[in-house]
Formats: sequence, C-alpha cells, structure tokens
Amino acid sequence: MSTTPAAEPAKRPAGRGRNIELSAELKAYKGIWVFIEHDRGHVHSVSWELVGEARKLADQLGCTVSALVLGAAEEALEQFAAEAFSYGADHAYLMKDAVLKGYRNEPFTKGLTDLVNKYKPEILLLGATSMGRDLAGSVATTLLTGLTADCTELRIDPNTKALAATRPTFGGSLYCTIMTLAYRPQMATVRPRVMEMPRADATRSGTLSYDTLGMVETQVVTKLLDFIADANSNKINLPYADVIVSGGKGLKTVENFKLVFELARVLGGEVGATRPCVQAGWVDAERQVGQTGKTVRPKLYIAAGISGAVQHRVGCEAADVIVAINTDVNAPIFEFAHYGIVGNAIQVLPALTQAFAAHLALRTRQAA
Ligand SMILES: Cc1cc2nc3c(=O)[nH]c(=O)nc-3n(C[C@H](O)[C@H](O)[C@H](O)COP(=O)(O)OP(=O)(O)OC[C@H]3O[C@@H](n4cnc5c(N)ncnc54)[C@H](O)[C@@H]3O)c2cc1C
Repeated sequence: MSTTPAAEPAKRPAGRGRNIELSAELKAYKGIWVFIEHDRGHVHSVSWELVGEARKLADQLGCTVSALVLGAAEEALEQFAAEAFSYGADHAYLMKDAVLKGYRNEPFTKGLTDLVNKYKPEILLLGATSMGRDLAGSVATTLLTGLTADCTELRIDPNTKALAATRPTFGGSLYCTIMTLAYRPQMATVRPRVMEMPRADATRSGTLSYDTLGMVETQVVTKLLDFIADANSNKINLPYADVIVSGGKGLKTVENFKLVFELARVLGGEVGATRPCVQAGWVDAERQVGQTGKTVRPKLYIAAGISGAVQHRVGCEAADVIVAINTDVNAPIFEFAHYGIVGNAIQVLPALTQAFAAHLALRTRQAA
C-alpha cells in the first residue's frame, strides 16, 4: 500500500484488553462517519442503510453523523450529500478531484485516511460490497486501526461506549462480537440489507465542507481504461427483491424446483434457496438465503419445502410477510412464518402459480 496518511497517526496505547483507557488524543475522536458508495451516478442503497443505522448509534452516543462523499467535480456529489441528510446525516465531507472519478483503491484510501487523520471520527462504517471491502481493508491497515468485516449487528456497548460489532465466524457456526477498544476510529463493514432502509425526510438538511485530495494522476498505479458491464451482473438481485419465492430440500429434485421458478415468474419476484439446494447444484450460489448466503428483506417471502433452520432464518426473518409451505406441522419455519400452509409443496406451488396467474390476468384486463 503506497498511500501515506496526511498527518502522523495518533499515538497508540501500549496495552490491550477490556479495561484499556484511551489516551487523551484518541478520546478526542468523535462522531460517526459513513462512506457513501456511488458508481456511475448511482448510490448503493447500503450507504443509506448505514446512515440510518449510524443515526441510531449517534443518538445513543450524543454525537453527529457525517457522510463521506468522494468523486469527480462533474458527479452529483452535493445531491448525494443532500440525500444523506434526508436519511439522517448532519454533515457531509466532500472531496472532489478528477483522480477520484471511478473507484480506485489508492486515491480513495488516501482521501479517506487524510480525512480521518484531520477530523478524527470515532466510528467509520462502509458497506460490505466489493468496493467497501476493498477500501475498508486498506484504510484500516493504513490507519493502524481495527476493522470488523461483514457485520450483521452494530450496538454501543453500555460499559465502554465502544462499537460492539457482531459478525458470523467459524464458517457461520458462531457469532462473535468484536470491540476495538484501544484504537480509533472503530471500523466496520456491513452487508447490504442487514440494516433497515431508513425513511427519507426531505425537510432535514446539513452542513457541507470541502477538502482536497492532493494527488495527481501519475501517482496512481491503477488506470481505469473502460467500464465493461458483466453480462450476468444484476440478473440476480436477491437482497433488494420485493417478492422472493424460495425452495428447500423438501422439493426433493431439481425438476420439482422448477415449480419455484414458475411461481416467482408469475409474481415478478426472485428465486431463493436453502444451502443444501445450492450444494446439490439445483441453483446458483447467488440465490442462497441465510447466514452464509444473502440477507433479504422482501415484502413477501414464500418458503416451500424449507425446514426453517436458524442459519436460513437469519437471512429471511426481516421479510414483511413470510408464507411457509411444509408437510410437517412441527417444522421450525412455522415458528416465525406469518402464514403457514401444511401441505405438499409439489402440489401447493402449481396451485398458487395458477391462482396468481388467473388473478393477475383478471386485474390486467380490468385495468385495460
Ligand atoms: C455453518 C453453517 C452455515 C449455514 N448457512 C446456511 C445458509 O446460509 N442458508 C441455509 O439455508 N442453510 C444454511 N445452513 C444449513 C442449515 O443448517 C440447514 O441444514 C438448511 O437450511 C436446511 O435446508 P432445507 O430446509 O432445504 O432442508 P431440510 O432441513 O432437509 O428440510 C426440508 C423441509 O422440507 C419439508 N418437506 C419435505 N417434503 C416436503 C414436501 N413435499 N412439501 C413441503 N415440505 C416438505 C420437511 O418437512 C423439512 O422441514 C448452514 C449450516 C451451517 C452448519
């Protein structure tokens, strides 16, 4: 990593452990920052989810929330900042430079580390996306601070007032909560859709400040030559789907699993699956819902032939409405489903597909 911080990193305390007392210098770190991830004019929703979460944490700590918006002058950075205010930010740090057009690790790492060293935030949050993961790692190592990646929950520890960041560990078999007690800022990345999307309040506003990057193109090793979209990207967008029909091993064969695709198609939804279905090669790994798959928050989640094991539950329980179809009345899925159909999914799924197709066709005719 060739990036150097603008200022000397703050002195680190010698000891480690629970009762560590921060130096006066590190105690001065205040406020929660959220990195606003944008790409070709579009802000990733995880940034707004994190601004909403940062607001809740900041209200507990009695501090402000700031958005970090880095990019080129021709990009709509002020508009992104205004959106961040509507979701709960109080301030936005803007950095405009031609070198920041399109994400590259080196200039973004320098931009972020310079801002941190200058303004000293207590907590820095990024989305656990490809960009967020890449950037968070290099920023944390440059700043010599702690980073908890892929978090599923963020809290303020009542005793230490530190960020208690929870994430799955040991392949998802355990959850661990990590606190960065001796260093600042405390950094975390959070997966999309784990946090609730906050409601935008257009009446909220905030303050802006501008900083410069101080870097020229010749200092950046990576060159952005062109953008070529992956033909398969955005095809499966499970975390942001409003309707998901998911299938489990109860469907027994890949042939029967097609019934899940048919119902999803009629409802205009996405297809999800449990891990054993992915392991059996019935569906793409991108469709796995759960602790080691995707976290989803649809308006409707239909679970067919799914037992409802905890590793699956954690990925789907935030859905507004869960409808479970299972032959076993004692299946764990019925403990958290809003509606339960005790029956054979191989018969129930086509019946639902037919009923919805007829109902939706009727509504289309009435609307015409
Ligand atoms: C570290 C770790 C991480 C994991 N991560 C994930 C994860 O991210 N996502 C995930 O899904 N799992 C995950 N798992 C696996 C998880 O523990 C369960 O094994 C899995 O979710 C069960 O999948 P299933 O419900 O499809 O299958 P099963 O447990 O076999 O359940 C099948 C269900 O279908 C019902 N059924 C049978 N026949 C019919 C029928 N004809 N009609 C209707 N219902 C029927 C049965 O009653 C049963 O409830 C993980 C496990 C571990 C150890």
